[in-house]
Amino acid sequence: MSERELRKVFADLHVHTALSPCADDSATPAGIVSAALDNGMGMIAITDHNSAENVGAVMSLGAKLGLKVIPGMELTTAEEVHLVCLFETERDALRMQEIAYPLLPPVENQPDVFGRQLIFDSEGNPNGECTKMLIGATSIPLEDAVREVHGLGGLVFAAHVDRQSFSVISNLGLIPENAGFDALEISGAVTREEATERFPFISGYPLVTASDAHVPEAIGSSPTLFLLDELSIGEIRMALNFENEREHLSQ
Ligand SMILES: [Zn+2]
Ligand SMILES: [Zn+2]
Repeated sequence: MSERELRKVFADLHVHTALSPCADDSATPAGIVSAALDNGMGMIAITDHNSAENVGAVMSLGAKLGLKVIPGMELTTAEEVHLVCLFETERDALRMQEIAYPLLPPVENQPDVFGRQLIFDSEGNPNGECTKMLIGATSIPLEDAVREVHGLGGLVFAAHVDRQSFSVISNLGLIPENAGFDALEISGAVTREEATERFPFISGYPLVTASDAHVPEAIGSSPTLFLLDELSIGEIRMALNFENEREHLSQ
């Protein structure tokens, strides 16, 4: 046993803010942090589509109110596969954004068609809209994306592998060997048992569940329970691999 008692923490590592065009305008930093705390989460990750512009705002509020907020992004690869990318620092997430932005289609968002893309300042107040169209795919091939995230010290989860679209299984028909995923994420639509029954080949990977919340109320509807010492990327990595008595349990 480690010297310190490990902590049990419920985590929802896939949450969208109102920056994602498909997310509700109520997904503000205040709305997200209070819903996460109300729903018993000790840790969430902010994972907007192809952008990390709002991670800082949610991290600041989370730090004030006692919620760990992991900076992240849901990257769309050239294969239209969604990847949940998690980083230790906001700076690393913004570096990933610098990589992703030039590789998005060079068109502006159409708020009436796709939805608004709200940006919040460090106080959590609305501070304009992102004009880039974030909903499309970048031109980064899957394997390059995984390499870039790992190069920044981050973790990559193949998002919602049980879904019919934008998942590595739906789009490629398989999980490429040596893809380098740190975990596979199962959506809230199915349990871990149902997912492994449908896709037996996923059982060799660490499996996490997450809400993919697009409204604050959904946060925590499908959490993963972690046993960790600290709330950090390094500790999550250990827990995914059951190292040093760290553990994870998906729903
Ligand atoms: Zn997705
Ligand atoms: Zn998502």
